[in-house]
Amino acid sequence: MSSIVAGLDSITTRLAALCDNPDIPYETLVLGLSALTTVWELYVSSRQMACYSIPLPPPELQHHLKKETYDKAQAYGKDKLTFNVRQTVFNFVLGFVLIKARLFTRAWDWTASIMDAVGLDQSRVITHSLFWITLTSIVSAVPNLFWMYYYTFVIEERHGFNKTTKKLWVTDQIKTFVLAVVLGLPFLAGFLKVIELAGKNFVPWLMLFLVSVQLILQIIFPIFIQPLFNKFTPVPEGEVRQRVEKLSNKLQFPLKHLYVIDGSKRSSHSNAYFYGLPWSKQIVLYDTLLDQNTPSEVEAVLAHELGHWKFWHPTRLLLIAQGNLLWTLGLFAVFIHNKSLFASFGFDPRLAVGSPVGGPQPILIGFMLYQLLFEPLDTFVKFFINSKTRKYEYQADEFAVRLGHAKDLGAALIKLHVENLSSPHSDKLFSKYHHSHPTLPERLRAMNEFEGGDWLTKNQSAKIEEIKAKEKKEL
Ligand SMILES: [Zn+2]
Repeated sequence: MSSIVAGLDSITTRLAALCDNPDIPYETLVLGLSALTTVWELYVSSRQMACYSIPLPPPELQHHLKKETYDKAQAYGKDKLTFNVRQTVFNFVLGFVLIKARLFTRAWDWTASIMDAVGLDQSRVITHSLFWITLTSIVSAVPNLFWMYYYTFVIEERHGFNKTTKKLWVTDQIKTFVLAVVLGLPFLAGFLKVIELAGKNFVPWLMLFLVSVQLILQIIFPIFIQPLFNKFTPVPEGEVRQRVEKLSNKLQFPLKHLYVIDGSKRSSHSNAYFYGLPWSKQIVLYDTLLDQNTPSEVEAVLAHELGHWKFWHPTRLLLIAQGNLLWTLGLFAVFIHNKSLFASFGFDPRLAVGSPVGGPQPILIGFMLYQLLFEPLDTFVKFFINSKTRKYEYQADEFAVRLGHAKDLGAALIKLHVENLSSPHSDKLFSKYHHSHPTLPERLRAMNEFEGGDWLTKNQSAKIEEIKAKEKKEL
């Protein structure tokens, strides 16, 4: 074991020396890679954009999409993509300007003066880092707020999805900001302190810290944080509750509570999920899901969700995320004291080894510069993780099909697709890069194969219309 540690240590030291070379133009490299990533994103989007000019739905959806719905879905998809393209270009330009104007460097000096002014000792590097991150985060968050506002109140509004009021939206943003300060700053201080205390071999200690934080968050998020935004009500006695409880019993899913949340307060998009400890789980259904589907369809959606549970998908994804984190931190150990990287972005290179005013190194700056450099690698990580989640979706669908829910799941997915006005056509590359789920035609085809049935080819829209008409009558 100790020989592995020593080996890794010597590789890290050698790589660190190799990468700390003043001839490497780090700033130019970051800007160039960022331009390349932007071009890639635009290329992928342009492929999807072409799908919005196709006049007819794909064969699998022809029976299920009325002309009017199809046109609406195409228009909505096009609007969303145009928004994304503009935001991608804007973010690239903003990043470019912030780096070229040396905002991150200046912010370090400005926050030093603020600390002086309020009588705080500048050698308190972690405090200084917290001031710095607050200032730089606010600068990057402000344009983002405008984008979010535009998305909710212009795009979602135009297509009839927005249900949130301006007042609720502002309250949400304030709550999010307060949470970021209350949870984010102490977390960051802990993160920096662990590296400072652990010194050279910080990676395992930092991993331990981060894994603990994730576990704590998993427990507190649904109990303390989500209720700040949504109201949870137990699903009343009735067919839905009966079906879900029976299914949970059958699969030995440790269901403790079954809730419905008021998702419709903000948006008419629908969803269902579960969370909790291995021996005590909660299922949450969006009120929109209950409104839009019959009880047997809700059960089918739940059967799919419980397929994820049965196959340990959340745990597997968590492990993949930890693997990703581990190598990210391992590589950070190579760059943490890179003087050339600091100097290239206009920081005092002495910062890479320790604060020039005394005290330890401002690790946060090193981490931010390292992230800028390796951000383009996320493109590959995204492909990899999406390939995993897509596989898991097929498995969960197959699970539901084997339990006999093929038709209901198919009907629910089609309804979900229609109600959410999801894009009928997806470019293969765009979908593989951006989507964690396979497209609806892909899923329907696969489900049909699992079942060996032919229900897909039958006219299902007639059935949906029949159900809708019946529901209307009941109202
Ligand atoms: Zn799923």
